[in-house]
Amino acid sequence: MTKHVFNAGPCLLPQVAIDNAIAALKDFSGTGISLISISHRTKEWDAVMDECRSLWKELLNIPDTHEVVFLGGGASLQFLYVAMNYLEHKAAYLDTGVWAHKALVEAQGIGEAYAIACSKDRNYCYIPKGFEIPEDIDYLHITTNNTIYGTEIHEDMDCPVPLIADMSSDIMSRPVDVSKYALIYGGAQKNVGPAGVIFAIIRKDLLGRVSRHIPTMLDYRTHIDKLSMFNTPPVFSIFVMNETLKWLRSIGGVEAIYKINLEKARILYDEIDRNSLFIGTAEKEDRSIMNVCFVMAPGHEDLQDEFFAFAKDKGMVGIKGHRSVGGFRASIYNACSLEDVQALVDCMQEFEKLHE
Ligand SMILES: *Cc1c(COP(=O)(O)O)cnc(C)c1O
Repeated sequence: MTKHVFNAGPCLLPQVAIDNAIAALKDFSGTGISLISISHRTKEWDAVMDECRSLWKELLNIPDTHEVVFLGGGASLQFLYVAMNYLEHKAAYLDTGVWAHKALVEAQGIGEAYAIACSKDRNYCYIPKGFEIPEDIDYLHITTNNTIYGTEIHEDMDCPVPLIADMSSDIMSRPVDVSKYALIYGGAQKNVGPAGVIFAIIRKDLLGRVSRHIPTMLDYRTHIDKLSMFNTPPVFSIFVMNETLKWLRSIGGVEAIYKINLEKARILYDEIDRNSLFIGTAEKEDRSIMNVCFVMAPGHEDLQDEFFAFAKDKGMVGIKGHRSVGGFRASIYNACSLEDVQALVDCMQEFEKLHE
């Protein structure tokens, strides 16, 4: 039976990236050596790093003011990098969910950081708006897509202070004006690769402005200077990320995938809104095009387990909502096809017929 994978992360990746990874595990780039046994100080590996960096720049139109680096440690370690590299006097965080909150707490261990606005009052089902951004803060930190709650900031906001964004779960899903950000970072495993590597797109002229000593490994300048090879890079994860980006370019890049992503999100939200058994949890105007959260409609809560079993029988994988929201979440990242989403929609329609 065909499986339709809606895992929130690690996520579905394009089959060609997986096939090329399997081939490289056996023989990397004609060297006769496995990808996981090569030296990273070789011209063959340099070629992968160069290609990957170039693809990032090409696909997101990254201007020369910025550099992209690939590191280990997960997005969660980037919470610390952010504060270490940019927090001098005071920083503001938009608290739109668990990840945003964790980023804030990490910064509070380093210096003064506060929530400029927060949507916890309604279990993070919306993006706060209309807050004033003071000009005397070092930066504003936002989480553009809230993976757990299915909310998303759809526009690159205008910000009078350096803007820092965790884009773990919506990077490469839509066009981004990189020039508006001091830093964009995220874990690869939500949309651009396997777990084990993060990306950070860094505006170079905003580094080196804090007075603290930054440990070498936590200093973005180290990794910019050494082209992400100060220490051993996560070669396997970077290789698969590169293959994933090659696939993305081959289908027309970010503009092309954005159109498909909008269509996928539209057909799924349309079904949630139409189907009498289900109801969406995020505010409509803030709905994510990557993580679609829904629950059983009032009066039908008792059908939840039955729908899980029904959907599982039809090949749906990974639609259980995060424990803090409950219900269902379909993560429809780039590699998830329109056909996968249509299969879920069909499944919801059949389930409704069963219960008419
Ligand atoms: C998953 C996720 C994280 C945490 O990523 P790790 O790589 O597991 O540390 C951070 N931010 C967002 C928005 C996420 O979705």
